[in-house]
Amino acid sequence: MADQLIRATAADGGIRAVGVITTRLAEEARRRHQLSYVATAALGRTMSSGLLLASNMKREGSRVNIRIKGTGPLGGILVDAGLDGTVRGYVDNPEVELPPNGKGKLDVGGAVGAEGYLYVVRDVGYGYPYSSTVELVSGEIGDDIAHYLVNSEQTPSAIVVGVFVGADGVGASGGLLVQVLPKAARDESLVEILESRVAKLSGFTPLLQVGKTLPEIFEELLGDMGLVILPEIQMLRFHCGCSMNRVLGALKMLGEEELQDMIEKDEGAEAICHFCGEVYQASIDELVQLIEDLRADSV
Ligand code: ZN
Repeated sequence: MADQLIRATAADGGIRAVGVITTRLAEEARRRHQLSYVATAALGRTMSSGLLLASNMKREGSRVNIRIKGTGPLGGILVDAGLDGTVRGYVDNPEVELPPNGKGKLDVGGAVGAEGYLYVVRDVGYGYPYSSTVELVSGEIGDDIAHYLVNSEQTPSAIVVGVFVGADGVGASGGLLVQVLPKAARDESLVEILESRVAKLSGFTPLLQVGKTLPEIFEELLGDMGLVILPEIQMLRFHCGCSMNRVLGALKMLGEEELQDMIEKDEGAEAICHFCGEVYQASIDELVQLIEDLRADSV
């Protein structure tokens, strides 16, 4: 099934639900960054979370950045997701592998670390981005995002994100966000019911693996609450906006002396995009051109 995002509402608009399937983009991230099993799960869960958070923004071009900095061996995780359905991201130590946790699952919490911080930046494309920080709850990512939504955005939310990785790569990846909007949030029993139902989805990926579609999952979860599934299916993909031109722009900012050094010692320059792993080679000719541009700029 293609990577996709579908929205739904229930309880006369008092409940907002968003589901994502991110299997292919998580596999692309795994290949690009040569991620270990546990790193694939950690980054995949964070990418799904980013897309889910971006989905409730209104203005075209809006993006969400999620940075997770825990004390575990994985180091930091950074994800950049857009309302347009594009996402990219990386982890600091992609090779870190851990034995399964007590439940026999990939130990994402152990790799990320249960202590540390989750930073979320919402950028609508103008003015000051809205940023907020919460402490990590478990490092399992879903819990941490839910904690963020309740504490920083004051929206009762239940979220589940999961990634299944096997020897052949990512077999299933996706997630679901259910939020109780202000007009229904006074009904605390509603929040509790939703939390327990979402908790029963047990990692989400088993549902995808048995072939369930997002509408079927919505039906299971909210079918008795006046579910309305919105007809639009948004496609999702791994996408990074880096380019040779941007790399040259960044190299130019290093200044003439540094560029001269690269020409003499390295006979060129190599730059790797953190977000997508793309390798860019700048030739001596290109570096010489940058120096000429710098000189022309300063006249
Ligand atoms: Zn890139």
